[in-house]
Amino acid sequence: MHNINSFNTRNTFQPYFSYDENNQLCVHYGQSFTQSKPLTEIIDKVLQKGGSKPCVLNFKHITEDRMLNLYQSFAKAMENYRYQGAYQLAYPIKVNPNAAVMETLKECAYKYDLPFNFEVGSKSELLSVLALAAKENNIICNGFKDKAFYELANLAAKLGYTVIMVLENVDELAVVKSLSYESAIYFKLGYRTKPFHEDLHSVKFGLSLKDIHFVNNELKALNLSDKVVLLHGHIGSQLKQLSQVEKHINMMVCLYGNLLNDCKNLTMIDLGGGLGIDYEDTQNPRFQLPYYAETIVRTFSYFVDLFQLPHPTIITESGRAVTAMSSVLIVSPLYQKAENEIVTQTSYDEALQAGWLNGEIDLADLVDSSSVSYLGDQNAQKLWLNFSLFQSLPDHWGIGQHFPLLPVTHYSEEESIDCQLFDISCDADGVFKDKEGNDYINLPCTEINDLAFMFVGAYQDMLSSKHNIIGRTTSVEVDFVTYDDCVLYVEQAEDYHALLCQYGHNPLQLSSRLQRLAYFHLTEELTDHEQLLLDNILSGNPYLQLADAEQVAYDFNQQIFNKI
Ligand SMILES: *Cc1c(COP(=O)(O)O)cnc(C)c1O
Repeated sequence: MHNINSFNTRNTFQPYFSYDENNQLCVHYGQSFTQSKPLTEIIDKVLQKGGSKPCVLNFKHITEDRMLNLYQSFAKAMENYRYQGAYQLAYPIKVNPNAAVMETLKECAYKYDLPFNFEVGSKSELLSVLALAAKENNIICNGFKDKAFYELANLAAKLGYTVIMVLENVDELAVVKSLSYESAIYFKLGYRTKPFHEDLHSVKFGLSLKDIHFVNNELKALNLSDKVVLLHGHIGSQLKQLSQVEKHINMMVCLYGNLLNDCKNLTMIDLGGGLGIDYEDTQNPRFQLPYYAETIVRTFSYFVDLFQLPHPTIITESGRAVTAMSSVLIVSPLYQKAENEIVTQTSYDEALQAGWLNGEIDLADLVDSSSVSYLGDQNAQKLWLNFSLFQSLPDHWGIGQHFPLLPVTHYSEEESIDCQLFDISCDADGVFKDKEGNDYINLPCTEINDLAFMFVGAYQDMLSSKHNIIGRTTSVEVDFVTYDDCVLYVEQAEDYHALLCQYGHNPLQLSSRLQRLAYFHLTEELTDHEQLLLDNILSGNPYLQLADAEQVAYDFNQQIFNKI
């Protein structure tokens, strides 16, 4: 069972979140995070502005703080080891390509005068970066690239951007070659190495050492060696051990030393991503930014000095580490349950049930027998949450990624409520499990109201699926950076109109079709009321409108819903 009872004193959520004396979950902000605001106040503001739950609260100041922390950690480690190179973040936009996030990072870099890069892995990602990057942001291009990708990059470079095309496979050489015959080459080049790995064949991306040797000679023949500025290698995401990074650095530094003879502008080593987030509250130091930075700089210092090489610029593409903690998903249960209302598992009478299955007892008698809970409803502590796991927590469904779940109100250190949590999708896999994979969640609260899924700022929005034609939730930008009090920008959840269009349905046709049907079937038009109903539904979103559901109370003794 997941235990967060000592939550207030743990580091995992610090300094960003904690509970106040009223047992409300608060976000911290301001100088040294000394100010705080209960999430309920922010949620109220969202509702006032016309937003609805479920909603994702995106805290700009947390993204900024994570980014600054990363740079500061590297600066400190570099000072300690007298490292002469610099550190730069390259933000891999696949982690969270929302323009608001990309702009926050860009603005933060500008404000604090930090060298900052974007990393893209597709043509569309390159387009999204070109739509907002500053000229001083380098653009590192990974991934599969066709000629159009190269031509777009060359155009961007001609217009003043520094674009680094990272060669991923030998075939890309042919594109570079043909382009070099047709026009001037404005972009720079990099080599993507296959990272150090016990089983090199299992690595999806990168050039083998043999490939690099070959490609490097070919570029020399084309007179393009001076274009090579960067060595790239990405080991994987949410790395389990930093010793993997140490081996990776050893290999990259060796290669860097070998290539310097031909590539005299090679000054950057990009280690890719992989810095993890402590989703399971393990308190392992590998999640701490200073520890990560120190490990990397120490290892770099050791090898560059051993081989007597100039100190390269160190780049990391720490996407998850920068964005994950900034976003919180707020969901409401369909029915609120106070602890004293939670019915523990009722055993049911097997003989009675057998009698019913034999046709000897009728349903009313079976149900009347008070010791018996309904067939198939033995677990009274089931709770449905108004969200879709497939849309909002795809990694939980797909790869069993754990996300901390906290009560927004009624937090308790002593008491807790056990329950099973389901989403509203019509799919049996829409179940939220605890970090050990158990179906029963232990919620540290005395009453279940809104719940917060923490750390959903990395990957979840992008990987989400529209299972059951349930779309994006309300998304809220919460700005504590520019304003003393929080100011919100609410982006409404995807409405039916937008959703149906994506799957080839035409909502306008739907409306007129129902009107025609009404006419031919009933020989009358839809009433104004019916037309309004249809219009309202189409402009609404697929999540349950809980204002109505709250009019229904669940009587746990009777196990029935009462209209109130
Ligand atoms: C996915 C990816 C990243 C991001 O990794 P994180 O674990 O989120 O830091 C960085 N670089 C490349 C090349 C990637 O494919």
